Order: sequence, then C-alpha cells, then structure tokens
Amino acid sequence: MFDTLKRDVYEACLQLPRSGLAILTWGNVSQIDRKNEVIAIKPSGVPYDKMKAEDIVICDLQGHVVEGTLRPSSDLDTHLVLYKAWPQINAIVHTHSPWATMLAQAGQDLEALGTTHADTFFGPVPCTRALTQEEVEGAYEAQTGQVIVETFARRHMVPEQVPAVLVAGHGPFAWGGSPGQAVENAMILEQCAWMAVIDHLIDPAIHPVQPFLLDRHYYRKHGKNATYGQR
Ligand SMILES: [Zn+2]
Repeated sequence: MFDTLKRDVYEACLQLPRSGLAILTWGNVSQIDRKNEVIAIKPSGVPYDKMKAEDIVICDLQGHVVEGTLRPSSDLDTHLVLYKAWPQINAIVHTHSPWATMLAQAGQDLEALGTTHADTFFGPVPCTRALTQEEVEGAYEAQTGQVIVETFARRHMVPEQVPAVLVAGHGPFAWGGSPGQAVENAMILEQCAWMAVIDHLIDPAIHPVQPFLLDRHYYRKHGKNATYGQR
C-alpha cells in the first residue's frame, strides 16, 4: 500500500545528495496523506545510494510504524508536530546544508537581501530561539517542532509564505505542498543563505531589500494575481 506516497518521498530523498544538500545519511524527507492519516518518511540511517522506494516508512500520526521493516527517521516527531500545527503543508525536508546551517549555528535569520529571496520567501527566513536544557533532555524532537511553530506564531509569519526555518544551533527545515516543492524550497534557501553570508562580508552594513520590491517579486509568483510562468 501507499506505493505512490513512498515513491514520491523516495525520489525527493534522492534529490538531496544530487543537489548538494546532504551527504552520507544526513537529512530527511516526509509527506503526509491527510485523508488516510499517515505519513511517509525516510528510514533512519540508510545511505541514499542504498535506499529503495520500499524502504520508506509509513507511520500513523502518533508516530507508530504502519508499514515498513526499518525504523523511521529520528526526526519523525519534529515532522509530526509541524503537520499537526499547519494543515496547509504536505511535505517537509530537513537538511544540514552548509550555508543555511552556518546561519542557524550563528543564531541569525536569513534576511531578504534581494529578489532571488523575495521570489520564494515573503520576508526573512526566521531563526528560532535556542532550546532550553529541559527541552533538549526531554522530548527533544517534538520540542524542535514546537519551537518552529512558536517562532512563526510569535513573529506573525505564515508558513505558506515563508516555507522554511532555521533551527538555532541545528539547521534548516523547509516545506511545501509536495516533496518536490519542499526540496526545491530547501535548495532555494541554501542558495540564498550562501549569497547572504557573502553579501555580509562584502558589506557588513547591508540592508534588507525595500518592502515594495519584496512585495512586487513575491506577488508576481504567488497569489491570485501571479503573472510568472505560463498560463
Ligand atoms: Zn538535523
């Protein structure tokens, strides 16, 4: 069962090493099937070049394995918290892609410095607060999801308008309507993070892009008046 779900997640997983977002077994991808109340997620600790579509694990929304012989990604509980909090997202990607991770390790937002960023992210990609010792020693993976949800609520951000986050001291999560879209957002995040870090070296006083230019680019590609692409 769930062959299409597994296949979609598997193919998105393979995009991570191909696009330079992940090495070894790093990173994970999941997709939710909201009608059947299951998620498909990468198995824990399986290298991408050894992985098969049937290795993708199917879990219920409590995190119990419904189908599959391997253990799910250790970040499963982070994914579950995000799916429950945000019904508008259907796929999640987590990587330790270096440039986005460098910002996360520095505890800094990815500022919207230009239109490359504004085409996908309607404002800065936020960095969360650091988790407390209690949170890390407790239900760590679920708390990672909670701090992401908390960050978006506190900063009045909408996950479909800013489809990524930097978890302080850890790395990026990105999401979308499908695994392919979530991977694409993770790739754009990495590219923007790379440019932003170098931009700050070129000009430490660099400013975010003007709000009118951010609006123009974001709404050219998103929303009911979008004009980008073909009819
Ligand atoms: Zn991680």
